[in-house]
Amino acid sequence: MIESCPMTMCPAWRGGSGAARDSGGGGAVAWPGWPRGALPASGPWLHRRTVSRYAQCPFQGWALEVGLVKGASAAADAGWQVHRVIAAGIRAWLDCGADPSGHMAECLPRVRPDVQIDAVDGLRRSIDAIGRFLADLPRDAVIAHRGGRGRRSALLLGHAPTATVASTVDLLYAGASPAEVHEIDFVSGRKVLTASDVRTGLKHRLHAWCLFGAIPDLAAHHVRVWNTRVNALTPVVTFARRDADLAGEAVAAALRSRRDILDALGPAPDDAFPALMERVHTRRRRDFWWPEMTRCAACDACTRCPAATASARDFAADPGAFLAETAAMKAALDKRMRLLRTTVRRTGRDLVFGRTAFGLDKPANPTNPTPGFYRPVETGVGTVGAD
Ligand code: SF4
Repeated sequence: MIESCPMTMCPAWRGGSGAARDSGGGGAVAWPGWPRGALPASGPWLHRRTVSRYAQCPFQGWALEVGLVKGASAAADAGWQVHRVIAAGIRAWLDCGADPSGHMAECLPRVRPDVQIDAVDGLRRSIDAIGRFLADLPRDAVIAHRGGRGRRSALLLGHAPTATVASTVDLLYAGASPAEVHEIDFVSGRKVLTASDVRTGLKHRLHAWCLFGAIPDLAAHHVRVWNTRVNALTPVVTFARRDADLAGEAVAAALRSRRDILDALGPAPDDAFPALMERVHTRRRRDFWWPEMTRCAACDACTRCPAATASARDFAADPGAFLAETAAMKAALDKRMRLLRTTVRRTGRDLVFGRTAFGLDKPANPTNPTPGFYRPVETGVGTVGAD
């Protein structure tokens, strides 16, 4: 997707030349280019994120793909705004030689107001360092970047037997030889990613799979993640062709899981939710959900998950399943508690229904109050809801 820049006075965003200026120095070679693909006009294609969800857990992938749950969150929206600002800085630097740090610093406060605070916090510590990094990079070494057009399009495509998978890179630049490329992935979330996350997560391995599939002579794909909230870069993680082949196998397995669960549960939740869940449970397809503590804690579908909504089972009969389902239940409960706290903070009023209340009007009033359950007094002052 082409980024639009809030800096409307910048000629790069008003139809500037679009041509990169050559620069003289640096150790990177000028990139010879490769045939850039386009999304298929017909035939299946999937976004990398969809494939990653199926690789995590089939039910999670299915619930989000068919729209049973929504994946959007304020944190994701803030991250998206941070990426827009970085893309604007890179384009201004490439297209019209602007100082990328200054450009980003001017763009950052103009992001969507509802996520502005989080977006500013997610990028401000890294703006100067990103600017210095770009200043040291020869412009003609840039192969692709988010918001780039034509030969510098950020779009990556991977071709599996049953579908095309699409993703985008934040910044891809040439290495010391035409057989090497470097990727920088900007990440603004609160979790600081490590080299181990880069090595084991599907995202960058899938990028390697796309790049090795498109560039026959490629020998090394070097990746670093830039944690912009804390201005920390991971060490370089290098993927070779055998890593890309393994990633291709993982993509194929995720696509098989997708086909199996779509065949079993249907392409869309056209039933009322209880009927759908009845179908899910009666089929006893536990191989469609893979509860595990870390995976479930990050799952957008946890509140609808069959593991999290399973009826009580005997611990002694199957302790492993009991534990795994409890991990999914805890993820769902944590998510429900976040929703209650957010509601109280947003409305400024407690939730009081009958003899159960939730909010800040708890009898004990600690120094730093957090919303929690309590039994309401009879007056019901400042309440949302009623019997
Ligand atoms: S909560 Fe866990 S088991 Fe359930 S859908 Fe999410 S990742 Fe899968």
